[in-house]
Amino acid sequence: MNPEHRMSAADQATADRTTEEPGPDFHIDYSDPEPVLRSPYSDDPVTARATGSLTVGSRTLLSVSDGYFLVDLVPDFLGSPAAPHGFVDQVSADGDTPARMPVGAFVWTGNKTVLIDAGFGPRSGAGILVGGELRRNLAGFGLTFADIDAVAITHLHPDHTGWLADTAGTPLFENAQIFLGAKDWEYFIVEERGTIPVDPHIRAGLLALADKDRVTLLDGEAVIGDGLVRLDGSGHTPGHSLYMVEDGGERAIVFGDAMYCPQQLTETDWVAASDIDPVLAQRTRERYLRELDDNGGLALGCHFPGLKAGRVLSGAWETA
Ligand SMILES: [Zn+2]
Repeated sequence: MNPEHRMSAADQATADRTTEEPGPDFHIDYSDPEPVLRSPYSDDPVTARATGSLTVGSRTLLSVSDGYFLVDLVPDFLGSPAAPHGFVDQVSADGDTPARMPVGAFVWTGNKTVLIDAGFGPRSGAGILVGGELRRNLAGFGLTFADIDAVAITHLHPDHTGWLADTAGTPLFENAQIFLGAKDWEYFIVEERGTIPVDPHIRAGLLALADKDRVTLLDGEAVIGDGLVRLDGSGHTPGHSLYMVEDGGERAIVFGDAMYCPQQLTETDWVAASDIDPVLAQRTRERYLRELDDNGGLALGCHFPGLKAGRVLSGAWETA
């Protein structure tokens, strides 16, 4: 990477607002471990470089980011009717600007290596949503795509499915079975609905995998692997899945986008612009938050800063 091509975060945010085709340059090469040439956040521990290792019993849940979502550029993305810029306003008040989130994925290791979510892929959505870091961050843990035995998808939005297939629709996880919510398959793939639709090449890749019986559709609570349980998390999308990992009496829940940020614990009326059913999404959040408050379990989200886990203690969030 040429350091001269790097900009400060603030410069990049300004550039993104003022240029017509903003964002970093990419090689659209799905085998390139570092396809992003000029991402201002390549080494940002809050977003693109967010990696971590959480011990659950005798096992490990890894956090691996694929990139960033610059919420600062879409300030009304997350908030309440009374405070539509709630997230951006709160992050700005805390001083860690610009307001941004990682595009996260997780790896549950054990008898099988399961990737939870598949990032945005090596591309830029107008400089607002940028992926491409998944291979590099997996490599940091000694993992390649060929090591992944299963991919458990929380939902079929583009920032969770980007590496499932290349632009030709060729599946990229050559050894993996794909797990996802049956109602998401019905809504996005069969009925082709959604204001944020499935990318055509991802749809082609998923259909090709389904033809080979490599897609498993899930409903309700379902055990999908050793210490890995799918839970219903509908609302953000019709078939949104949460994934609970457990070992030795300890557990953690990966919320996907059922909870966008830890602030939604206390700001329960914050909704995301991408929530398909905001009322059900809020009900789902409240249900699991009550449970977490009762049992002290750990929670993680695909867009939590730094992809860090936390606990609910007396109604407040505490990073683990
Ligand atoms: Zn998302």
